Amino acid sequence: MGPFNQEDLILRISKFMKERNLEELKGSARALIWQELCSNLNNSLSQNQLFSYQVRLHKLWNAPNSYIKRTVMSALASNNSNRHIFDKSSCKLQVKITNEEWQDQMKTAMNHSKSSFLVKFDNFLSAKLQNLGIKCWLRSSHNRFKKNVLWEGIYKCIEKNCEIEKFECIAFKTINEVLIDVKFCDKIVTHEKLIKRLRISGQDRVIQQYSLSANGIANTQSFNAIYNANINDPSKTNYSVKKKT
Ligand SMILES: [Zn+2]
Repeated sequence: MGPFNQEDLILRISKFMKERNLEELKGSARALIWQELCSNLNNSLSQNQLFSYQVRLHKLWNAPNSYIKRTVMSALASNNSNRHIFDKSSCKLQVKITNEEWQDQMKTAMNHSKSSFLVKFDNFLSAKLQNLGIKCWLRSSHNRFKKNVLWEGIYKCIEKNCEIEKFECIAFKTINEVLIDVKFCDKIVTHEKLIKRLRISGQDRVIQQYSLSANGIANTQSFNAIYNANINDPSKTNYSVKKKT
């Protein structure tokens, strides 16, 4: 038994706990669950080796501020991040956008630039991806409309130390909708789900001003609160970008 491979351990412990619906790994190193876990991690151990493995792993898990425990627990806490944990290969998600949504995004883009989407679309895409379980919030490093495919872009997480280096996106048009294939290298994301408040700018700000005079401030504010709550995680009340400390 060499030194522990942390990355591998985290993946396999997460999988073990997820499959058994465990919220914690309780009990002493002798407890049945530790025995089961350790033989699951390494099934070629003798009885004595297995017990010493249990003791080592138990100690590692229960160490103050244990990296392995923290990472596993935060991965499990985020229900939809299974894709980040359980598949080590590259990962692909598909974002579905209705024709109306796409037209709406295109309109904004065409007001500013004929060749690419601006930051409003970054936020739109990030919110869509978060609905699919991604914790990151994205910014475009480059994107453009194309002839052969509808559009393509490379995106990065706004969290500097994010484990995922880049998100590669390609959009296709079908009869009823626009599909964006998003490909990224599948790593365990250790930062918290990033919550971003959408900034209202340009034409939307003008529309909001009309809305203010038509509906009154109170109504507009509650509408905006609902809008933010919908695209973000409703259980979080902090709408600024949340960083893991
Ligand atoms: Zn990220």
